[in-house]
Amino acid sequence: MTLRIGIIGCGAIGQDHARRLHFKLSGARVVALNDINLEATQVFSLASGINARVYAKYQDVILAEDVDALLVTSWGLAHEEQVLACIAAGKPVFCEKPLATTAAGGLRIVEAEVKHGKSLVQVGFMRRFDAGYRALKQTIDAGTIGNVLMAHCAHRNPAVPANYGGDMAITDSHVHELDVLRWLLNDDYVTAQVVQGRKCRNAQGDLHDPIMVLLETSQGIRIDTEIFVTCRFGYDIQCHVVGETGVASLPEPASVALRSEGRQSTEILMDWKPRFIDSYDVELQEWLRDTQAGRVTGPTAWDGYFASATAEACVEARHSKQIVPIRIAERPAFYERGTPGSKYQV
Ligand code: NAP
Repeated sequence: MTLRIGIIGCGAIGQDHARRLHFKLSGARVVALNDINLEATQVFSLASGINARVYAKYQDVILAEDVDALLVTSWGLAHEEQVLACIAAGKPVFCEKPLATTAAGGLRIVEAEVKHGKSLVQVGFMRRFDAGYRALKQTIDAGTIGNVLMAHCAHRNPAVPANYGGDMAITDSHVHELDVLRWLLNDDYVTAQVVQGRKCRNAQGDLHDPIMVLLETSQGIRIDTEIFVTCRFGYDIQCHVVGETGVASLPEPASVALRSEGRQSTEILMDWKPRFIDSYDVELQEWLRDTQAGRVTGPTAWDGYFASATAEACVEARHSKQIVPIRIAERPAFYERGTPGSKYQV
């Protein structure tokens, strides 16, 4: 069966996903597009060879009879309204992160999905689909390093756009660690603290860079993550998980080991896209498979809400310089893995 896909938001990642779904992956055809830049979207539709219908209103894409499932890849502030509209129409939706820009918005989506009674929402946290993170999770779950005690992580970008500032290091960058670490460690966060040290000279305007986020989980696991988005030397994602009997580390991306000109070296990627390009393919191919089967196995609306709520606590912690409790609503049984009657499949 081929799923007919509508895409809301045709900027950078919306166009990438459209090409990926239409030309690269199996089981999908992109039939409808929407973006507030109507003309640019018409040009994209033709120039890409997708030749989908372009709608001026996102609601019309959701309601189109020949659209089976939706991608929401507009800017973050529009996600909540657009995902709620997909749920109201009873159509499966893959929403790029963030699910919502506030915890309250994420919770409204959770409540709408539970009320609807069928799993419809998956959130675009692609690191769960990265081969390296999956291997790391297997190692942890197999008990190879015993009980996990700590994790040391880093999220480094060579540079960020001029409009990147304020709390975006948390809400846009660190949000990926927030999701993937919860999944890796099978645990929820209970407190957050943000430490700011000396400001890097490359950080412009109100961007304080680097920062360090300290999280504590319900089992007492301590996580520190350095977020350094103007490091210049590369896009460098690190994750070292310390257990009672060993340390398990995220594998480095495959790279030729070079001996040349008096030195031994391996490349460090400069961009996030090549680092996670394969995981986007796996993520959307599995989403197509699951959507056809009427289930969600990737990050759920609950996971999206949890990430937004934790990001909100981290932002508060950065401003207050205090250790902030992470307050989470009671998790509906709907999202409990393995619960009889739950629509959520592991
Ligand atoms: P982008 O290039 O700015 O694309 C967003 C597009 O949506 C723009 O064309 C924007 O128009 C349009 N738009 C804004 N509001 C809209 C609305 N209400 N209805 C329809 N279209 C609307 O941004 P992007 O880099 O593609 O990012 C899109 C989303 O994906 C963001 O939430 C981002 O965080 C997420 N993302 C995730 C990853 C990942 O690794 N998972 C990577 C990249 C991006 P204007 O330009 O006129 O505002």
